[in-house]
Amino acid sequence: MGEKKRVLTGDRPTGRMHLGHYVGSMKNRVQLQDAYECYFLVADLHMLTTRPEKEHIDALRKNIHEMVLDYLAVGIDPEKSTIYLQSAIHAVYEMNLFFGMLVTLPRVSRLPSVKDMARAANMEDEAIPFGLIGYPILQSADILMSRAHLVPVGKDNEAHVEVTREIARRFNHYYGEVFPIPDAMIGEVPSLVGTDGQAKMSKSLNNAIFLSDDEKTVNKKVRSMYTDPNRVRADIPGTVEGNPVFIYHDAFNPDQEEVEDLKTRYRAGTVGDVEVKEKLSRALNAFLDPVRERRKFFASESGYVEQVIYEGTLQVQELANETLKMMKKEMGFTGVWNQISRKARDRMKKQENVSSSLL
Ligand code: ATP
Ligand code: MG
Repeated sequence: MGEKKRVLTGDRPTGRMHLGHYVGSMKNRVQLQDAYECYFLVADLHMLTTRPEKEHIDALRKNIHEMVLDYLAVGIDPEKSTIYLQSAIHAVYEMNLFFGMLVTLPRVSRLPSVKDMARAANMEDEAIPFGLIGYPILQSADILMSRAHLVPVGKDNEAHVEVTREIARRFNHYYGEVFPIPDAMIGEVPSLVGTDGQAKMSKSLNNAIFLSDDEKTVNKKVRSMYTDPNRVRADIPGTVEGNPVFIYHDAFNPDQEEVEDLKTRYRAGTVGDVEVKEKLSRALNAFLDPVRERRKFFASESGYVEQVIYEGTLQVQELANETLKMMKKEMGFTGVWNQISRKARDRMKKQENVSSSLL
């Protein structure tokens, strides 16, 4: 085990996982499981950055359950990978504070991803919490806690891994070598468009196809998908590039010949949207069928998901404590409180002796 390099990544438990999460990050996770020691976090603290209200905290239990079911359904295997709950790793809260000292405010506040997240949460710029600006720092703490080498994420998270690299380098330089410099690994589709043609499929934008959607729902969502808006009739030549329907075909239809044929006829104006969409629905459902099957199986095992998270979390608590100890040792921070306590206790003991000898 110890020889393998490490992977860390995760998701905010704000709902079920969708096709964007899959091509952006989950697919890589499944593929990396054998060669790497993998850690996947349920980022409930990160949820608080845009959803601090109690109603969202109350929804966590259910959302976490659904999300981890999605993990298992796509083939993340708890025998190989460790799934854990971020908020139960207290050492990360401490690391977050130390790392916050190693990055400047302008560096994190100019990241477009933070503004994008605020926008997706319907938040005005003035309402952005300090904690949301600190998102990349907390994310760095998660990554560096595990001393990871590789971080499979979607495009929107690439800049955060860059911040993590800077923090790791600075820490190693100031105090001593503790951290490998982690690399981001961007998925085969760095940012999957939404069904409505918006740049990013997102839970909050109502433009997602979920891994747990049933066949009927998928068909319905595909039928109403945004395509080439200039193509008002099937005999008008259409644009394939950037067209969501074809982006999905490329990502999920393994029949390349069929996809090429559809593209050729689309460009020539000899195929209708209906046929292109029907074939897409078929491909998506073929991809999702085994996922649904596995999801159903794990859902029927009461308490299984919770056991997976519980066991993973206990394991990560140890790992995080170990990293924190290494950090404090290099920082020279371990000694300070111990020295003060020792000296204080010595004096208190002496005083006790004096007063007891007076009795
Ligand atoms: P949503 O926008 O749906 O709420 P999110 O971005 O808040 O999702 P996160 O938990 O932040 O969800 O992201 C989980 C992972 O999935 C990240 O690595 C992110 O980059 C990736 N990801 C999310 N949406 C997409 C997408 N449309 N295409 C590619 N990757 C994505
Ligand atoms: Mg995100």
